[in-house]
Amino acid sequence: MGITYCGVYADAINTDDHEGYAARILPDGTETGTWTYATREFIGYRAHCDCGWRGQHHYPATEQGEQLADDEWDHHHLRPLLETEARRHTVPATVLLAFSRELRESLTYTTDAQGDRVLTERTAGVLDAASRLDNLLDDLSREVTSKHQPPNRRRRAPGRSMPCEY
Ligand SMILES: [Zn+2]
Repeated sequence: MGITYCGVYADAINTDDHEGYAARILPDGTETGTWTYATREFIGYRAHCDCGWRGQHHYPATEQGEQLADDEWDHHHLRPLLETEARRHTVPATVLLAFSRELRESLTYTTDAQGDRVLTERTAGVLDAASRLDNLLDDLSREVTSKHQPPNRRRRAPGRSMPCEY
């Protein structure tokens, strides 16, 4: 009934230990993940995780309150776990550059009413993703350059290996 994360780094964080859920807060203050007839009357929700983590806030006993508790688990527990794992790894720029090339090479084209070669709608999104990745690499390159050079002697960022026709 809870939320089990199954994306990147799921194995690394032992995702089975981190099932998140909106626990019901009963009138006597008890918090439970068991939703039965016995727990049908409750006064709010609080984010819980199977690992023992508890959210900071109490939310109303409404559908929105349940969603807010789930969101708190996601933003304040799951994401920090994933970010801690991500900080352990460095992806070389060469890998990202190769990925950007791979994306650009996967583009497919169609012909518009005027007979011009145009990207299909789906591949326009792929090209956008590749361009964002390229911009990220350029930005990182500029950061490195500016740390090692006085601002008035900054080298230009390296040119793109692909033509900038879009
Ligand atoms: Zn957890």
